[in-house]
Amino acid sequence: MSSPFNLEGRVALVTGGNGGIGLAMAHGLAQAGADIILAGRDSVKGETARAEIVQLGRRALFIASDLATPDGCERLMDAAARAFERIDILINNAGITARRQPEDLSIDEWHRVIATNLTSAFVCCQKVHPLMRLQGGGKIINIGSMLSLFGTSFGAAYGASKGGLVQLTRSLAVAWAADNIQVNAVLPGWITTEMGQSARAQVDGLNERVMARTPAGRWGDPSELAGVAVFLASAASDYVTGASVPVDGGYSISG
Ligand code: NDP
Repeated sequence: MSSPFNLEGRVALVTGGNGGIGLAMAHGLAQAGADIILAGRDSVKGETARAEIVQLGRRALFIASDLATPDGCERLMDAAARAFERIDILINNAGITARRQPEDLSIDEWHRVIATNLTSAFVCCQKVHPLMRLQGGGKIINIGSMLSLFGTSFGAAYGASKGGLVQLTRSLAVAWAADNIQVNAVLPGWITTEMGQSARAQVDGLNERVMARTPAGRWGDPSELAGVAVFLASAASDYVTGASVPVDGGYSISG
């Protein structure tokens, strides 16, 4: 009997899959047997990431995309659906931030963060839904944040987008359960990617606060997000939907 975590024959699309957490999750899915489509703006990073997945023995494709507009999302989804003729797993991971006090945040920055982090996830989900329904089901994983749960002075737009993703996840999970589509969110803690490193550099005292509050006593490595991605992408999680799973070394349960 094959493992419930086996993803052979499945196709996964990972937005923001050309680096950081997205690429680490793509590695996990590829190791479990999935073919991978990666999307992002930077084609140099994209080609390097694609080559890494091919090294794991899987088919891989990078599609250069700007997901800050609904058009960009629709173009990606059309190209991805054509590429390997199915999409079984969608990971909405592309994200940006604008670290400013709310009173200093411009409306353009607000719109850009919401468009990239939240609206893109909605458009990609809406576009993949008919395909997954036709295929008899699918898995959607939205990447939230600790700021899906908590406030910070420098995260008004980012926190709004990530809180919104949790509620979007719940709405889609209810709406599409009958189509055998499970929709879940992953809430990473503080992870050492480009985004994590820039937060550490820009926000005074952040590293000390993270270290003091995280029971694991350290920042997370992107590779530590691979396991939850495989679980939520596989048959092992067929009765899990609408959940938001923290992967945070205990940060969210610590006082
Ligand atoms: P990175 O900055 O390394 O990755 C962000 C990814 O998003 C990149 O692959 C980037 O690709 C892509 N991206 C950004 N804007 C766009 C766009 N307009 N169109 C297409 N792709 C885009 O950071 P992480 O790996 O840390 O972040 C991944 C996700 O995890 C994000 O949603 C982030 O909010 C979330 N997260 C990260 C945490 C951390 O501590 N690192 C904590 C909690 C959540 P490109 O540059 O090529 O466009």
